[in-house]
Amino acid sequence: MKVRIVNRTHWRTTDLRRFIREGIRRERRELCKRGAPELRVRVSYNRGGERYTACSGRAGIGCNWMRLMLPSGNVDKTDLAFVTIHELAHTAGIKHAAMEGCSLYRRVGNWRELASWGESLPLEKTLPVKQTRPTIDIKVEHARKMLARATTREKRAATLRKKWAMRLRRLERMNQEPLKIVATQVQA
Ligand SMILES: [Zn+2]
Repeated sequence: MKVRIVNRTHWRTTDLRRFIREGIRRERRELCKRGAPELRVRVSYNRGGERYTACSGRAGIGCNWMRLMLPSGNVDKTDLAFVTIHELAHTAGIKHAAMEGCSLYRRVGNWRELASWGESLPLEKTLPVKQTRPTIDIKVEHARKMLARATTREKRAATLRKKWAMRLRRLERMNQEPLKIVATQVQA
């Protein structure tokens, strides 16, 4: 089962993946087969914020892409499981007209019971990465590394200078030798 998730929320991608994988096992079993096409899922926020806990979504009818929208505050995990199944059903080619009155695809009857599997799955927020100021130890280490690098560059430059100076001297000598011969001949 191949699932590509583009997650634009603070909800952990690994947790979202579990919901999607469980949904696929229930609603799109053929995607579990070896060599099955990839399902592309985009996850973003809906307008629930801190006020509402319900999820929403979108999907292509008979296409392998879908979108899940979650509130940023608290998420009703049963509702997320329900929406995942609903959108996956769209990707399988099922339209709204065929979903009417069905508790698996609509929030009617015992839909919460059918989607209760969501409650057993974790859904955590990713921890923000702390921006810490570099300590003096880190600064010393950095300065040492930069000094070592500068010293190497300096040595390399000195070696190059010597090499070219020697080469120039040799060329100048070669250039002067025939002149010397000419000069001696004239003198003789
Ligand atoms: Zn729908």
